[in-house]
Amino acid sequence: MSDFDLDTDLTDEMLAIRDRCRQFAREVLRPVGARLDRMSAEEVAARDSPLRDVLRQYRGLGFGGAAQFADSDLTVRQKALLHGLVLEELAWGDVGLMITCGLYNITPVVAQSFGRPDLAEFFGARDEIGCLAVTEPNHGSDHIGFTEPAYRDARIKPSLRARRSGEDYILNGQKAAWVSCGTIAGSGIILAVFEDSKAGLSDGVVLLMPLDLPGITRGKPLEKLGQRSLNQGEIFFDEVLVPRRFVIAEGPEAYPFIWENYLGNANVHMGQQFVGVARAAYDHALEYAKQRVQGGRPIVEHQAVKMRLFNMFQKVEVARSHARRVAIAAAVRPGGVPFQYATSSKVFCTQMAFEVASEAIQVLGGNGLTREYPVEKIFRDARASLIEDGENGMLSLMAAARL
Ligand SMILES: Cc1cc2nc3c(=O)[nH]c(=O)nc-3n(C[C@H](O)[C@H](O)[C@H](O)COP(=O)(O)OP(=O)(O)OC[C@H]3O[C@@H](n4cnc5c(N)ncnc54)[C@H](O)[C@@H]3O)c2cc1C
Repeated sequence: MSDFDLDTDLTDEMLAIRDRCRQFAREVLRPVGARLDRMSAEEVAARDSPLRDVLRQYRGLGFGGAAQFADSDLTVRQKALLHGLVLEELAWGDVGLMITCGLYNITPVVAQSFGRPDLAEFFGARDEIGCLAVTEPNHGSDHIGFTEPAYRDARIKPSLRARRSGEDYILNGQKAAWVSCGTIAGSGIILAVFEDSKAGLSDGVVLLMPLDLPGITRGKPLEKLGQRSLNQGEIFFDEVLVPRRFVIAEGPEAYPFIWENYLGNANVHMGQQFVGVARAAYDHALEYAKQRVQGGRPIVEHQAVKMRLFNMFQKVEVARSHARRVAIAAAVRPGGVPFQYATSSKVFCTQMAFEVASEAIQVLGGNGLTREYPVEKIFRDARASLIEDGENGMLSLMAAARL
């Protein structure tokens, strides 16, 4: 990466936080992420996994979600910009670990955003990893098909069912193995459709709940292609009684609205994160091209390689501009940004990261394919993002319907 900085409006406080993130990414996330990538999913999730140590160190740093800058004098715009810098730097280190860190103490932040200081205090005191459980074995894209008639089709039945019991709810069924941190989270945002829903998957209850209630069990951690440092796994519910106090929203008016909003926010973050992933691939490729000699000179001096590198550089810069503009508008404008903007950031930046990582492999030649060099891992990490938080084609369909 060049030392030149296009960001001319960063305060000393913002620069100091960005640099701390960069150091943490280089010294902790990168080496531990590379180790976890070679371990089994069970080993990654284990109590003595290096993952736990990363979380301890992350906690000590005191940054992460936008809420962490609550005491700062920065404006809302500056905080949004800073949050984007933090996401990019940490994802540059290891995106699976970055997402895990992002889920650390997520439940109190979500409670606060819903105006529930009681739950923020309750979950804050637990100090644990959270998760978001939406996807089900039989319903992946179905759950984000807001604009599809099937979303409201009463014949489509959920895998996790919510039943009213007086003021409380009883849950039965399961969430899919795709829940990030599903086997290690202590609490979570659980979306559960009513078993008697007349509106398909669009009518249910949003719960912010502990995951140690009687009747909850977990599946085995999932083995997957990329982002292997990110734990993934099923959550099972057997007659789980969830007291009223854990209800955030319910019913066909609130339920789909809140979920679409949440997904939009997540996608704003995804865009910024995957700029960091792409930058990591580009940095590795540039460094390698300066060292590798072919035809009697470093390959960076061959015109074709130079052009390829410039193309990668340009993609990262353009994607960052788009992701950042969307993220700042989402923070500054009451009500955030319309779904198509958030989706555009996620789809564009993840696709860009995948392409840049693939180009990085090309720059490294055969070495790019080996585990001796980091780009094949980055490529696998980027590949997963095309499906994560909504498959890109499906997200694009939903966004197109909003134009
Ligand atoms: C790394 C990672 C992390 C994840 N984290 C979480 C998490 O924390 N919590 C969570 O709940 N989920 C999570 N997911 C799940 C993710 O959101 C789903 O995988 C995604 O929504 C796609 O669902 P699916 O895998 O069941 O694919 P399917 O829905 O089965 O889709 C398969 C293919 O069919 C296409 N398709 C499906 N329906 C339609 C349609 N109506 N019209 C046109 N095309 C269609 C899709 O576009 C796709 O190409 C994660 C996934 C990954 C990869």
